[in-house]
Amino acid sequence: MTDRCNFRCGYCMPADSFEESHFLPHAEILSFEEIVRLARVFTADLGVAKLRLTGGEPLLRRELSKLVAWLAELPGASDLALTTNGFLLAEQARALREAGLRRITVSLDSLDPFEFARMSGGDETSVPPRGRAQTRLARVLEGIDAAVAAGFAQLKVNCVVVAGQNEGAVLALAERFRGTPHIVRFIEYMDVGTQNHWRSSEVISAAEIVRRISAHWPLEPVDANHRGEVARRFRYRDGRGEIGVISSVSQPFCGDCQRARLSSDGRLVTCLFAQSGFDLKHPLRSGATDAELRGQIESVWEARSDRYSELRAAPPARSRRRLEMYQVGG
Ligand code: SAM
Repeated sequence: MTDRCNFRCGYCMPADSFEESHFLPHAEILSFEEIVRLARVFTADLGVAKLRLTGGEPLLRRELSKLVAWLAELPGASDLALTTNGFLLAEQARALREAGLRRITVSLDSLDPFEFARMSGGDETSVPPRGRAQTRLARVLEGIDAAVAAGFAQLKVNCVVVAGQNEGAVLALAERFRGTPHIVRFIEYMDVGTQNHWRSSEVISAAEIVRRISAHWPLEPVDANHRGEVARRFRYRDGRGEIGVISSVSQPFCGDCQRARLSSDGRLVTCLFAQSGFDLKHPLRSGATDAELRGQIESVWEARSDRYSELRAAPPARSRRRLEMYQVGG
């Protein structure tokens, strides 16, 4: 939706590396009409059924619910999801639901207000547009409550675990969401992009996360919902819900990846760790027909050979230029 974000998480868009000039000028970003046109090609002709809106922070796009309503009308789009940091969710949850959004994932890296502020690169207190001062964390938690009240009965909650920074969040989040319908997914800190100065020593493996939770509340593995599911599922043996772990560093799953990503400036990206993408905006803006767009997408998809996560340790893979997470959406 956009490469801009209102947070500055150190693992994605660290505050000291970003200034206004890093971001795309408005004219480079696909309009809602252009997004719908491409989404129609993907869903009508190419078998895509699930659309996810992400960013950057998607809720920064003005009138996002208008786009959601248009996408919800596409006959082939059986699932419409959003990934957000939750900061603007309280104000928008109802409109998004009414427009036809089906599912929401909220990123939440800590339940401690100070740690949360540190992780997301901001002050711990903020003043929402029409309200009292509250912590950043409180705003996100209010966003979660508002989403549930708006009818999103089961949320996913994403937590990136960074060694020495928010490890306490593993048990705190597991405890908070145990016994609710919501599913916390713990994500291994990934070496996406080049700005986060990633070091392998900062990764807490999915196996270690499962071990730590299991020591308190025993877990057992559950079968995937479908082939290509990104998170590995575990349920509490006492029946109080489930968690997921995303192990793209310790156990890469390139072979099952089915995701096509469309950057906010209209590039088709076939891997989270890609160096660049295939430009669809120029053909789109210079009069390509749907059949021509479909042909271009098909040829990129059929030729894809990305498996960065599996090659991670190889020197050529490590040294190359890469797209940033906020450009490809996570
Ligand atoms: N702004 C939205 C949000 O915060 O959810 C959507 C975009 S964000 C890039 C999507 C997801 O990517 C978030 O859950 C975020 O935590 C995750 N993410 C970003 N950088 C990451 C990294 N280096 N390793 C693992 N996950 C990362």
